[in-house]
Amino acid sequence: MTGYLKRKSAKEFREAVDKAKLIVILTHTNPDGDALGSVTAMSSYLKFSGKACRIVVPNPFPRNLAFMDRDRKILINTRHTDAVKDVFSRADLIIALDFNQLKRVDDVEPLIRNSKAVKVLIDHHPEPENSAFDIVISNTEVSSTAELLFWLIRTMEGGSVKKVPADCAQALYVGMMTDTNNFANSVAAGTFKMSYELLDLGVDKETLQLKVFGGFSEGRMRLLGHSLLNKMKILHEFGAGYIILTREELEKFSFSEGDTEGFVNMPLNINGITVSALFTEKDGHIRVSLRSANGFSVNRFSRKYFNGAGHERAAGGKLFIPVGEVGEYFEKCLALEQDSLSKAQDL
Ligand code: 5GP
Ligand code: MN
Repeated sequence: MTGYLKRKSAKEFREAVDKAKLIVILTHTNPDGDALGSVTAMSSYLKFSGKACRIVVPNPFPRNLAFMDRDRKILINTRHTDAVKDVFSRADLIIALDFNQLKRVDDVEPLIRNSKAVKVLIDHHPEPENSAFDIVISNTEVSSTAELLFWLIRTMEGGSVKKVPADCAQALYVGMMTDTNNFANSVAAGTFKMSYELLDLGVDKETLQLKVFGGFSEGRMRLLGHSLLNKMKILHEFGAGYIILTREELEKFSFSEGDTEGFVNMPLNINGITVSALFTEKDGHIRVSLRSANGFSVNRFSRKYFNGAGHERAAGGKLFIPVGEVGEYFEKCLALEQDSLSKAQDL
């Protein structure tokens, strides 16, 4: 192992990249900091290695992360549908980052399935859909896909990141910083080693912190206040808390993509609360976000009741019921999981 990576994986990946003429770099729907950090870092590194590549995301990314698309070249499938189709038809290598199931890329899924390109997955979620890929680099022990990418690039560079371009280093740092919620979750010794080496290269952590966590609108702040004051429901008997936001409410606070990022963590700050959920009404479905503080697997919970998946302590999914029925449904699911919830509360 080199850091958190098998040396063989780096060799296999390098060989695939060396052979490729056009590379598509892809991440999941509703791209977050780790998703965007990983694709932009990969793109920067591949360009530095002399390769031609394009980044594809299924739908738009949050405003506070727009600075990561420096040259405004990211293809967004819902907006640039024809260009995305074209680039997939010409690509001979597809690198998928930060997701573990093909359904996570919505309308891009058939483009991957029908492509004859070599397919690589680099990810940190449990139970990846291995059969859909030729090469899988997966590790659930790292903080983020960006961290896994850091170890991959470092290995390919002979054990040092000294030569990687500045924007690649910056993107890796942003991915790790957002997925750990600013060093609060999933941080291990390797995460600090990565941070040390990236800061040593000159990554400006204050500016990045300000851009990522300080780039929100006034509406977002007031939506957070409204959610906590008027919408958060606490169920002490289950050690659970949840917030439901309707489309009407989102519009009232001039919602833009990414504004509810972080809301789901709030109920967990209450003594005795070990599982929390955020439900937001979207076009044709309810987006589900789940977190747990100990023991209780929201990855399993999401797979069982919310058509999704994720990590043990952070997961997401979708519901296809009217927003008015969500609270009752969630409380029913909690009741069905009463035993595992009680165990988690006792930990
Ligand atoms: P978030 O709540 O921040 O949207 O997502 C938390 C975690 O769950 C992330 O790691 C994300 O990749 C995963 N996740 C979110 N939504 C879904 C989903 O619909 N399906 C699956 N498989 N994973 C999801
Ligand atoms: Mn991630």
